[in-house]
Amino acid sequence: MDKGKMGLRTITAKFGGTSMGTAKAIAQVAEIVGGMKGPKVAVVSATSGTTDKLILLAETAAVAGNWREILDGLIEKHAVIMQELGVKLSLENFWKELGGLCEEVQKKGSLELYMRDEIIGFGERISSNILPAVLVKNGFKSVAVDAYEIIFTDNNFSEGNVDFEKTYKAVAEKLPPLLKDGVIPVVTGFIGQAENGQYITIGRGGSDYSGAIVAGALDASELQIWTDVDGIFNIDPRLEPRAKALEKLSFKEAAELAFFGAKVLHPKTIKPAIAKNIPVKILNTFNPSAPGTLVINDEEESIKSVTYKKGISIVNICSAGMLTAPGFMSKLFQVFARAHIDVDVVATSEVSVSVTVDNGEADKILDQLAKFATVRTQKGMAIVCLVGAGIIHNKHVLKDLFAAVEEHDISMVSQGSSKRNITFLVKESEAQEVVKKVFNKFFI
Ligand code: ADP
Ligand code: ASP
Ligand code: MG
Repeated sequence: MDKGKMGLRTITAKFGGTSMGTAKAIAQVAEIVGGMKGPKVAVVSATSGTTDKLILLAETAAVAGNWREILDGLIEKHAVIMQELGVKLSLENFWKELGGLCEEVQKKGSLELYMRDEIIGFGERISSNILPAVLVKNGFKSVAVDAYEIIFTDNNFSEGNVDFEKTYKAVAEKLPPLLKDGVIPVVTGFIGQAENGQYITIGRGGSDYSGAIVAGALDASELQIWTDVDGIFNIDPRLEPRAKALEKLSFKEAAELAFFGAKVLHPKTIKPAIAKNIPVKILNTFNPSAPGTLVINDEEESIKSVTYKKGISIVNICSAGMLTAPGFMSKLFQVFARAHIDVDVVATSEVSVSVTVDNGEADKILDQLAKFATVRTQKGMAIVCLVGAGIIHNKHVLKDLFAAVEEHDISMVSQGSSKRNITFLVKESEAQEVVKKVFNKFFI
């Protein structure tokens, strides 16, 4: 769609959990949104820690534990935030509905995924009502838009797959009329409507993805991801005080970083942005004048960042003589595909194949694999990933990498097929130390 013809250069701005975490932070978010020029849509996460509490709430209800105490805690937390913000907004109906769902779960004595999704989406449904109340108090026109009305998925509860055609059509019908009237829509992150009409969530950390979906549907001029750090850094800034925010990064580099654990951006976020070539900017709610990191199509060759992903298992599949037999690999990967398990890294030798999967996933397929191979798993591992365009053309990179981590036992060193990363496996307990050593070697 031609942005000029539409006449609307909409900014889509997503605010994460910490940005929505306290009254002071929400007031700051309202300042930022109110100060943006032209049409804008906000997409919000739940207040920080709320989704975890809602998961606990649902699980406690399923075992007939004291879920009411957890619910009361959530009610109190939000009441304090609203009181401090000075907004009058009744959340009574949300809490009643949530309490009703917990009763249902308790009666059932089990927690089905669709019930879990409905319960854990309440954080966003509530926060997306608080922000418009603050914006209205500040003199703006603003309404909450429940993503249930505009984001549609299949029935894959807890990780709904988006039906982009239906979703883009619904967003295009619902939001532009509001924007033309000068209203700021505040959309619930993280949730949508499943094919069967129930509430669904689109994966932990999924509000980034919601933001990208809305930006894609509106063909936004920019997708802003407002978080609690100055941008995408060359290492997780919580790990290393000398971390530096990057000025620019390509979509592909950002995708690698997100996929291999840099929590600052949800891996799927990039997809709708790339498809429409929408620049993504990572910005800090608590330091809004910082330039942030711009993620775009263009790419400059240099090493950008090091990241790691914990909770990984190595599955080693050994089948003497079979490995080079036609069809073996295909049979092997079909097992993973049928179980909907993502494989991160693969290494092969004459007699065995090693793949890495998330802890917990491995157990799902051991029986299947054991039918045609000898299988060994090694849990408690982490993938360390060094990312940057042209990394493999750098003659010194492997030598430097091995030198940096020589005291550690590393395995499955591989170069991603994207040619933008080098990954290897280490014991989870050593991951942070290893990442810091790599940082020291390449960025100091
Ligand atoms: P939000 O709640 O805003 O979505 P997240 O907690 O999901 O925020 O992501 C922000 C966090 O990501 C930061 O606080 C930081 O600790 C972490 N992080 C990990 N790796 C990086 C990185 N390379 N650059 C920036 N932040 C990173
Ligand atoms: N609140 C959700 C979560 O904690 C989604 C998000 O914050 O992005 O996973
Ligand atoms: Mg996040």
